Amino acid sequence: MIHDGIDRLVIVGGGTAGWIAAAAFARLLGHRISIELVESDAIGTVGVGEATIPQIIRLNTVLGLDEDDFLRFCKGTFKLGIEFVDWSGPGSRYLHTFGDAGINLGSVHFHHYWRRHAMNGGKERLWDYSLHQMAVDEGRFGKLDRVGNTQMTGLAYAYHFDASLYARYLRNYCEQRGVTRTEGMVQSVVRDGESGDIRSIELDNGKSVAGDFFIDCTGFRALLLGQELGVDYLDWSRWLPCDRALAVPSERMDKIPPFTRATARPAGWQWRIPLQHRTGNGHVYSSGFMSDDEAARLLLDNLDTPALDDPRPIRFTTGRRSSFWSHNCVAIGLSSGFLEPLESTSIHLIQSNVSRLIELFPRAQIGDAERDEYNRRTIHEFEQVRDFLILHYNLNAREDGEFWRYCRNMALPDPIRDKIALFAASGRIGRDVDDLFRDASWAQVMLGQGILPADYNPMADQMSDEQLAQFMGDLRKLIEKAVAGLPTHDDYIARNCAA
Ligand SMILES: Cc1cc2nc3c(=O)[nH]c(=O)nc-3n(C[C@H](O)[C@H](O)[C@H](O)COP(=O)(O)OP(=O)(O)OC[C@H]3O[C@@H](n4cnc5c(N)ncnc54)[C@H](O)[C@@H]3O)c2cc1C
Repeated sequence: MIHDGIDRLVIVGGGTAGWIAAAAFARLLGHRISIELVESDAIGTVGVGEATIPQIIRLNTVLGLDEDDFLRFCKGTFKLGIEFVDWSGPGSRYLHTFGDAGINLGSVHFHHYWRRHAMNGGKERLWDYSLHQMAVDEGRFGKLDRVGNTQMTGLAYAYHFDASLYARYLRNYCEQRGVTRTEGMVQSVVRDGESGDIRSIELDNGKSVAGDFFIDCTGFRALLLGQELGVDYLDWSRWLPCDRALAVPSERMDKIPPFTRATARPAGWQWRIPLQHRTGNGHVYSSGFMSDDEAARLLLDNLDTPALDDPRPIRFTTGRRSSFWSHNCVAIGLSSGFLEPLESTSIHLIQSNVSRLIELFPRAQIGDAERDEYNRRTIHEFEQVRDFLILHYNLNAREDGEFWRYCRNMALPDPIRDKIALFAASGRIGRDVDDLFRDASWAQVMLGQGILPADYNPMADQMSDEQLAQFMGDLRKLIEKAVAGLPTHDDYIARNCAA
């Protein structure tokens, strides 16, 4: 099937997905296509999505954003990882950091040396060799490429920001680069009688917006790809059973911690995202295992600062569209699927899907080859992220109720079952080469959730026991020294990007 002339891009939806798509297209293809974004103030956005992962820095670089200006506007803070609290029972905690612990030697990952050291009697946790963990413990943040003069990588970071300010920031960016914004609620869709492609959308104010290519960023509604083109939704809630969230802002924290916290609760978990002007909180839970009233009570009883509003309910079904590109329309953002926010991956998926679409975007004609490639790679990416999330739920050691028992006993997709078995046996990580999560992430989460590998990679036997003990001790000293030289997170913000 062949279409002609792809000159007019229409993006429907002005949440994080719509504005990221508009910004990236304006920056990279704005010289040859017109871009129009349609959004409805009456409907509004989902209003959450405030924690990110380090890949967002790549997006900012492509857009040419100034970090300090961006954080000042969005009242943002820095994030070195996610602290998981109580996932292995009361009092347990670990940090999934954005960096490596220690240093990898050749192709051998540090956690193998750590495991060998532990089998020799070493008492330290893997995180005792983590630059990120020490910085978090001391509330420090700064720009650090390397630890001292070594090859040890420095601080990898991401951001927390106010979602509505982020959308406004990107909107300003887009409008300065020629993107047209049209206000109005979509009421109907006009399609080509022969091909079934979308030709235009009709708004409640009488306007008609025609296009050659449409990006559906209408959030959970999935107005174009789901409702109009009828692409079905694959439900993954048998593996990711949370289906509701309550979100509530609370007062800002006195000292702003440079990390997101995810605390396990009896039927889900609670997030805490520290911003400059307030703290974002939410309780993600499974309605099959907990009532809304109980979920709200638990959330409000467990805030670190006083609530600023009533909890706002959000309902969702974890899963994805069976395909993401159909006819002349691609769904990006919540319209394409939702894997729940435990690892802050949704904004990354938006960014990654926008980048994939730009890479495959047709110049003159839409061909099946590009569409198939887009769908194939996006499905793979969603499944990889899904499996990483499943890991957290499945490897829990909580005794407080049915929800966690269900998660421990659920049948897993084969790839994640195999990865767990491989790590448990030998500490090896069966990571796909294109996996979003690095070996260090897999190792931290599997160890943090309670798997202690029975063995380590024999290549880690290259040094003697004495050399190993010396190596481990030296690493800690180097990291301690590097962290001592960093400013506090609050000082860094005050000096560089205070709102
Ligand atoms: C509880 C929860 C917590 C989350 N936390 C995180 C997180 O920490 N990190 C992360 O990366 N992601 C997180 N996410 C995901 C993140 O919020 C979304 O990926 C992100 O906000 C993008 O949303 P969106 O733009 O797809 O949809 P929305 O924000 O819902 O935007 C939809 C847009 O479509 C428009 N629209 C809808 N219907 C019509 C119509 N008929 N006519 C015209 N316009 C219309 C709306 O007006 C709006 O502008 C979270 C999600 C949830 C539910």
